[in-house]
Amino acid sequence: MALIVQKYGGTSVGSPERIKNVAKRVAKFRAEGHQVVVVVSAMSGETNRLLALAKEISAKPDPRELDVVVSTGEQVTIGLLALALQEIGVAAKSYTGGQVKILTDDAFTKARILSIDEAAMRRDLDAGKVVVVAGFQGVDADGDITTLGRGGSDTTGVALAAALKADECQIYTDVDGVYTTDPRIVPEARKLDTVTFEEMLEMASLGSKVLQIRSVEFAGKYKVKLRVLSSFEEGGEGTLITVEENRNMEQPVISGIAFNRDEAKITVLGVPDQPGIAYQILGPVAEANVDVDMIIQNAGRDGTADFSFTVARGDLDKTLNVLDRVKAVIGAKAIESDKTMCKVSLVGVGMHSHPGIAARMFRTLSEEAINIRMISTSEIKVSVVIDEKYLELAVRVLHRAFELDQAV
Ligand code: ASP
Ligand code: MG
Repeated sequence: MALIVQKYGGTSVGSPERIKNVAKRVAKFRAEGHQVVVVVSAMSGETNRLLALAKEISAKPDPRELDVVVSTGEQVTIGLLALALQEIGVAAKSYTGGQVKILTDDAFTKARILSIDEAAMRRDLDAGKVVVVAGFQGVDADGDITTLGRGGSDTTGVALAAALKADECQIYTDVDGVYTTDPRIVPEARKLDTVTFEEMLEMASLGSKVLQIRSVEFAGKYKVKLRVLSSFEEGGEGTLITVEENRNMEQPVISGIAFNRDEAKITVLGVPDQPGIAYQILGPVAEANVDVDMIIQNAGRDGTADFSFTVARGDLDKTLNVLDRVKAVIGAKAIESDKTMCKVSLVGVGMHSHPGIAARMFRTLSEEAINIRMISTSEIKVSVVIDEKYLELAVRVLHRAFELDQAV
């Protein structure tokens, strides 16, 4: 007998029919003798609908009240799933985040989980019940409802698995696992049997939307055995997200190719090459709450430097406004920007023991005459910024060059 936490996303509970299917799957695990805690998202589209409703009332809704509104989507699905389970003879009980007591801080709309009271859930599990918990929500010390940020049900699932010391946390979604890259771009993309937490974190932060980033961090920190599976297919093994030591020996050097279209590049030209310039440029940008990603500085022979960095496209105008103010102070000659950039990254923990990966990447791109605008590397990834129009081509040729379509 194992204790399993299963999380079902919005599409998996998108209609009464699908909720009944989830109930059947849960019943199967119960019949095998396992204890099951189920975490559900709101029905697909529901959270967006609720957000839009609030925006119709108020252009800048008060975050506390916004959380009161958007957390209701999950309250509907826990009740419906508990009913569906009872209908097929499985004892079940639903819990909101507050009823469990998933205690969070009071950062409405992006709260962090502080602790989870597992006593009530444990009692129900021991009494043979399936426990159905609302994802995405918690309660702060004042008893106010909080939410965990978009995609937060993944984090609820992992956090419950950690608190209950579950044997496995299964994330059921509309894909059957984590792929070497987006199959819509490369049809030969392959499902990975395993991927490490570090790789998954890179892939998630680089634009692969299978799991909320925070849930992966959480799982890595608390060593939760995490698996991504399809809720529409029977019998698949999905992708196991694991620690590096637990992988088999024959792991490929590169696990996947991630990409992100949402990149804008800014260059501050002709700034004096002296201490403090990076801070004078990026300090005000950070104060405006803009996340800066890649940074490159290039000093010329004339005592000036060019300073380039990337931000999310949605932050470009805000950043340019900030820089407009800074420009005169630091004596920059000009500021240029380009919002048609994208980022393509090779990810793989095997990379640190295999030199030459970056060179092979650059050669592959050069053979297609794709110009690399910026480069950054870490132990387990190489990222390049290129023109967005080359994104598909770049991902396809890299996928082939690193033989990611080949089974290992
Ligand atoms: N319903 C929330 C959202 O759409 C949380 C989740 O689905 O994970 O973001
Ligand atoms: Mg999701």
